[in-house]
Amino acid sequence: MSASGLRSAVVALDVGGTDIKSALISADGVVLQRLTPTRAADGPEASVAAVLAAVADLRGEVPAGYEVLSVGVVVPGTVDEEDGLVISAENLDWVDLPLRRLVADATGLPVGFGHDVRAGGLAEWRLGAGRGAHDHAFVSIGTGIAAAIVLRGEPYVAHGYAGEIGHGGTTSGAVCPCGGRGCAETFASAAGIARRYREETGASLEEVPGSAEVLARAKAGDAVARVVWARGVDRLGELVAEMVRVLALPVVVIGGGLVRAGADLLDPLDVAVRARLTIHPVPRIVPARLGSAAGVRGAGILAWAAAGRDPR
Ligand SMILES: [Zn+2]
Repeated sequence: MSASGLRSAVVALDVGGTDIKSALISADGVVLQRLTPTRAADGPEASVAAVLAAVADLRGEVPAGYEVLSVGVVVPGTVDEEDGLVISAENLDWVDLPLRRLVADATGLPVGFGHDVRAGGLAEWRLGAGRGAHDHAFVSIGTGIAAAIVLRGEPYVAHGYAGEIGHGGTTSGAVCPCGGRGCAETFASAAGIARRYREETGASLEEVPGSAEVLARAKAGDAVARVVWARGVDRLGELVAEMVRVLALPVVVIGGGLVRAGADLLDPLDVAVRARLTIHPVPRIVPARLGSAAGVRGAGILAWAAAGRDPR
């Protein structure tokens, strides 16, 4: 409750390649939420306009008695939180976009700004599976693989390059969109597992649209599916172990689409991580709790911080 007698709230946005998740968040939690199209196919101006419209629309729906203090926006791609800049977001065709300033100019409000996975990691640490951990990493495994590292409650950013664990490390194998070869993303992400299975079997996209189908086939005894799944999980174990060797993380939270596999992912992942660690304590490997809401809740935390309030 502010001096004006109004309840404080923030507007939070998670901008994806397809949809924008927006929410009005008060101290008690989510008050309103909306899903609107990003309109990425109509070009970068259209998608920026869609972001600004989503903020304006949600502010227009704020119930009586609430006062919006600030806005939080999180986006995919390479994001420089310090400068408020989207360096590049391939899905949105954004390059060197000063999005924080554009939203601030349009709203006249303080704006918290960040990367979707890092903000999701912050939300899991604050509100979800990483709660209570001194340090943790949130590894999102979906179309790609990226980690959000939170050390003593602070996301470790390094101008957007920290936690990009899905790329590099090898010099042979399938070509990756990053320009490298054999990157973990090409065969250990949810999309990579499905693509690799299709390549090795000739299955169509309709037959095997995603990693869930590969897992179903592996469980039904399909030998190729078993190898593709096991190889992907084994590489993920290597990525987690690499982070633990550097940061000695006590908790690693696994999120993104692949975690829907549950124990079929987490049990062999735990085995793969243990097999690669000797002197380091083995981290607790836990599934994310906030699911697809992690990004928007993270945007909310950044918004509270921008307003000078305790994040929640
Ligand atoms: Zn790559």
